[in-house]
Amino acid sequence: MAILDQGPPHYKKMLPPIVQENYGQWKYHEIPRPGVLRHVAEGGAVLHSVRVGTPRLVSIDFIREVCVIADEYCDGYLRWTTRNNIEFLVSDEAKVEPLLAELDAKGLRVGGTGRSISNIVHTQGWVHCHTPATDASGVVKAVMDDLYEYFNSMKLPAKLKMGLACCLNMCGAAHCSDIAIVGVHRTPPRINHDVIRKGTEIPSLVASCPTGAIRPDPKNKSVVVNEDKCMYCGNCYTMSPAMEIYDPKNDGIAILIGGKTSNARTAPSFSRMVIPFLPNTAPRWPETTAAIRKIVELWIANARKGERVGEWVERIGWEKFFELAELPFSEMLIDDYIFSRETFRTSAQFKF
Ligand code: SF4
Ligand code: SF4
Repeated sequence: MAILDQGPPHYKKMLPPIVQENYGQWKYHEIPRPGVLRHVAEGGAVLHSVRVGTPRLVSIDFIREVCVIADEYCDGYLRWTTRNNIEFLVSDEAKVEPLLAELDAKGLRVGGTGRSISNIVHTQGWVHCHTPATDASGVVKAVMDDLYEYFNSMKLPAKLKMGLACCLNMCGAAHCSDIAIVGVHRTPPRINHDVIRKGTEIPSLVASCPTGAIRPDPKNKSVVVNEDKCMYCGNCYTMSPAMEIYDPKNDGIAILIGGKTSNARTAPSFSRMVIPFLPNTAPRWPETTAAIRKIVELWIANARKGERVGEWVERIGWEKFFELAELPFSEMLIDDYIFSRETFRTSAQFKF
């Protein structure tokens, strides 16, 4: 077979020798302390993975520092997870404690396994994208600082996976998170007709709108937006700089809860909106951190052991959740509100 020069190298080449030798034969793992997993193979081989949280935006100097640590304790084998954790893969059991001591001395925090909060998976829209409604990493830093006690311990009812997407296109996997933070715009795009006339492909712009809110305006060689149909997604701004969507006064954050991708115990589920708007109060987003802490603490106080956030809410009923969380409820917060007849209680989403 020809070896081509495009595409990433095969992942197997980068696995530590102990993983290659025991491929497909790992029997079980245990968690001797938060952030440390001990994997045991059929033949008795043991591998430790030590998980460290990072803020995602890291410098080259930081990466070098991490690689030097990996060279010393794990023959250079480590991996970055999708949640921006670093996992040091230690095949020499005697090196686990010295590695933990070095990480601690360097201020690198170990945690995020088992019944804890893992690092928040998030987007980085303000660095590379057109439509962010909030600064993803800033919010994540504020929320993780506030919930740190649940990162380096395992006192939650179950694992807590959070996601942040900086706009409702949700490339931050927020749609299936126990708690999701989503940046939201709340006003339609402001059209710059001059920019449209000078350099926008109008058919592509019209086609970019998922709700059909944009129509050509041939008289003015521009477009019009039907504001009743607009859902403020910002797709049109990706297509043309003439459709500016940013609105500092009205952009902010929505909170969704109850999603999960796992099919353990119950089927995977989508997150559902419980707080439609919180203000963008950089640099520490106190309203967002307080709202999330309140939901987490309610879950801790009321869930059964092993129950994910969505499983707990499904058991007690969404109406009860809103009551306990003291959150105002509107028909816009349930997916099928047009089918609920005289009262929200006829919605399939409510249980009594
Ligand atoms: Fe861009 Fe939206 Fe993805 Fe953020 S969530 S990176 S703004 S598409
Ligand atoms: Fe259409 Fe989204 Fe643009 Fe509104 S913001 S006009 S829904 S593409």
